[in-house]
Amino acid sequence: QEAANAMTGALTYKNVPVKDAMTPIDRTFMLGVDEKLSFETIGIIFKTGYSRIPIYEISKSNVVGILLVKDLIFIDPEDEIPIRSFIQIFGRSVHAVWPDDTLGEVLAELKKGRSHLAVVRDVNNEDAAQDPFYEAKGIITLEDIVERILGDS
Ligand code: ATP
Ligand code: ATP
Repeated sequence: QEAANAMTGALTYKNVPVKDAMTPIDRTFMLGVDEKLSFETIGIIFKTGYSRIPIYEISKSNVVGILLVKDLIFIDPEDEIPIRSFIQIFGRSVHAVWPDDTLGEVLAELKKGRSHLAVVRDVNNEDAAQDPFYEAKGIITLEDIVERILGDS
């Protein structure tokens, strides 16, 4: 039965839109660019267990960088480095995809970019008085795609 699920998943995941497999932004653990990497913040990061933390400015729909937890081995918490400086130094690029991109497309892109996480963003043009702007809707990782392939969600 498990094998059958994996077969079905392997055949259908490719056409599943990202928006159906992503972690929505309101359930994504993020940090603000103006926060500092203090003992307290680093403790919170380790407690979440996540390896990749999206960094936002002003609002969570505005992702300006990604913090890789493994990069924290270079920092001294006593320095209380601002996250803004940290992401400037490490400069990890943020992959972006559309909610209607398919998992097949996103898997190919993540493989090409050697990255495990992409931010799912859309254009917000609801307000005619305002210029359209990008809005982060969620994140998608290789793990989310693998889950679809193995058919366990
Ligand atoms: P790794 O296994 O490489 O250490 P991880 O455990 O941090 O990574 P993934 O395995 O890539 O995360 O993803 C597991 C699930 O957690 C996925 O559903 C993914 O969308 C979600 N996820 C990853 N990072 C975050 C985050 N910062 N906040 C909330 N959910 C996240
Ligand atoms: P993450 O993206 O979660 O930080 P990572 O960068 O440590 O992970 P992967 O994303 O698993 O590593 O791999 C990215 C690419 O780098 C792959 O092509 C992998 O083969 C290569 N790679 C990873 N670790 C090493 C290593 N120690 N030596 C050589 N190549 C590596």
